[in-house]
Amino acid sequence: MENTLKIWFYSFVHLFFPRCCVVCDTLLVEGEEELCTRCNIDMPRTGYHLLENNPVERMFFGKIPLVRATSYFFYRKGSNFRKILHELKYGGKKHLGTVMGRFMAAELAGAGFFESIDVIIPVPLHPRKLRARGYNQTEYIARGVSEISGIPLDASSIIRIKFTETQTHKSIFERSENVDGVFRVISPEYFRGKHILIIDDVLTTGATTTACADAFHGIPGVRISILTLAVAE
Ligand SMILES: [Zn+2]
Repeated sequence: MENTLKIWFYSFVHLFFPRCCVVCDTLLVEGEEELCTRCNIDMPRTGYHLLENNPVERMFFGKIPLVRATSYFFYRKGSNFRKILHELKYGGKKHLGTVMGRFMAAELAGAGFFESIDVIIPVPLHPRKLRARGYNQTEYIARGVSEISGIPLDASSIIRIKFTETQTHKSIFERSENVDGVFRVISPEYFRGKHILIIDDVLTTGATTTACADAFHGIPGVRISILTLAVAE
């Protein structure tokens, strides 16, 4: 009875607040979350996790002690899939991050992407930006990844100490970001010998992710892998 009531109640709620696909705006059916099945199938996946020396890994070669890196889908001009990032960052859709994190992790897990990784670190926002937005969208992506992979999430051991403006509207050259020394690791000793997975929402020049990885520089035995939800193309 209680269950019937619940279903009735949610159907009633959805009648007035219908859940729609974030990409194509069609009504979601029972069992779909945030993204409809068709858009999920059509998502422009990179497939980079199956490719050795993939373009994302090449962005970090020689800069950090990289083990592996990939991005889930292409962030293309004019593509409706950009809405995922937009809603996640500016639309308050935190749960979308977790759902996307789960989708991504489920596909990567099958290919052994999470092998030997000890801890997941989402790239932090500056406290001022965190206050303004109310949440760190990347942390929500990381939560979904942690749920599926079973790897613990650590959202407090690295902090962002310098404020940098949103870089989205600048050209790729202007974006050669001033990110040196932006991040600091709180207890470096804890990370000794660990394989860290740094997660970010979208990869453009790689400067922010590299700066985040640089914060672990000098800690003996640290290895780094990188995972982003999208990569600019
Ligand atoms: Zn859709």
